[in-house]
Amino acid sequence: MDYERDTIAAISTPLGEGGIGIIRISGDDSFNIADRIFVPRKIKPCDMEPRKMYLGDIIDPETKETIDEVLIVKYKAPYTYTREDMVEINSHGGFTVQNRILEIVLSCGARMARPGEFTKRAFLNGRIDLSQAEAVIDVIRAKTERSLKIAQEQLRGGLSEKIREMRHNLIRILAHIEASIDFPEDDIPCFDSETIAGEIKKLKEEMEKILNKSKAGKIVREGLSTVILGRPNVGKSSLLNSLLKEKRAIVTDIPGTTRDVIEEYINIKGIPIKIIDTAGIREATDEVEKIGVRKALESLEKAELVILMFDASDELKKEDIDIAELVKEKYVILVINKIDLPEKIDLEKLEKIFPGKNIIKISALKEEGIEELKEAIYQAVTKNIGSLEEGILITRARHSQAIRKAVEALERGEKALEESIPMEVVAMEVREALEFLGEITGDNVNEDVIKAIFENFCIGK
Ligand code: GDP
Ligand code: ZN
Repeated sequence: MDYERDTIAAISTPLGEGGIGIIRISGDDSFNIADRIFVPRKIKPCDMEPRKMYLGDIIDPETKETIDEVLIVKYKAPYTYTREDMVEINSHGGFTVQNRILEIVLSCGARMARPGEFTKRAFLNGRIDLSQAEAVIDVIRAKTERSLKIAQEQLRGGLSEKIREMRHNLIRILAHIEASIDFPEDDIPCFDSETIAGEIKKLKEEMEKILNKSKAGKIVREGLSTVILGRPNVGKSSLLNSLLKEKRAIVTDIPGTTRDVIEEYINIKGIPIKIIDTAGIREATDEVEKIGVRKALESLEKAELVILMFDASDELKKEDIDIAELVKEKYVILVINKIDLPEKIDLEKLEKIFPGKNIIKISALKEEGIEELKEAIYQAVTKNIGSLEEGILITRARHSQAIRKAVEALERGEKALEESIPMEVVAMEVREALEFLGEITGDNVNEDVIKAIFENFCIGK
């Protein structure tokens, strides 16, 4: 693993104007750099103790110019985020002043940190494992309280602990297999192939249980892609606005990623509902708006859930039917809008297209029926993905892939046992499973994967 021992620095607070800004330095040279650029008030620099905050000035060592009045804390390794010596400079929050301080720190020998490099060092120094490192970024980007709770659980090591426990069990099984190879004659209980098969099966089922919840985990972390569809004028924009207006609709412009669309999330009982193609719904004035079948098809491709909207005050039109036919295969919630107006829509016709389907009646304008709609969305989601409450939730495709591969290895092992293929082959498969699980915690993972994970971080974390 490449681990450069040099000293790194970055601005750790969001760039721009804020009350304070924090510049972080990590590495062997941190204290040295701090001593060169910081002049404390009232005490001598050599009397500064770790973990105490000191008021003073940042001085440019070249020009002797005072840059800012700051608070500084030194943290002595190994009790730090990175397990290296660290310094935190709390400066004023302006863009220029923070950059100026960072420049001075860099001119004293630190290197600009790459995205996620502080956390990467925490991982490489063994303070956290890989799944915990991933959780750091999930905590930062959590979209609802529930997402946050799950990310924090992972950060505390909940997932790591589960993986360790399963690996431990695999090692025990492996020991039993080895014993049965070494002492084939002695009929030692728990080393016979039947017992071993039972142990493998139990563990495999445990993994499958976790896999079954991976969809829920993914949705909690990334949000459920949802599209509001309907012909022009049925009230899509109005519904979106009333959904977004409520609660803390979290609008995220994710820093440090290349995504340029601003995604909008609605928080429904802790499930982030990601409304896709919001721009398309929002921007258009009604005359110009041409959702049209082609456009609908495009947003449909990305959608996991469709809110299909009709106008209660108007007749069902060919356009309505066309769109309805498009989404029949998707998970759909039917909504009739404008129930504050006299009803004209032919509900029976609609029920024929969607037999047995519940129809939610709302008025986006008067904000009636919105709670019922939310409840219907929540029910649809949880019915689809299961409960979010109990057990370990895995939130990343990387994790579910690793567990799936481990399950497959165990299945091959089971098959080998059934067919009385030599125990060595079974042992090999169990060892495979062990390695796949190790990918999750980073005990067993290649460098490219690690690189890709940390590149996704923001700078300063
Ligand atoms: P979109 O084209 O589907 O996005 O529809 P809009 O949200 O732009 O709404 C079209 C028109 O219907 C606007 O004049 C809205 O004020 C009106 N509208 C939307 N929802 C309701 C409703 O529940 N009741 C009534 N009476 N009018 C509504
Ligand atoms: Zn609209």
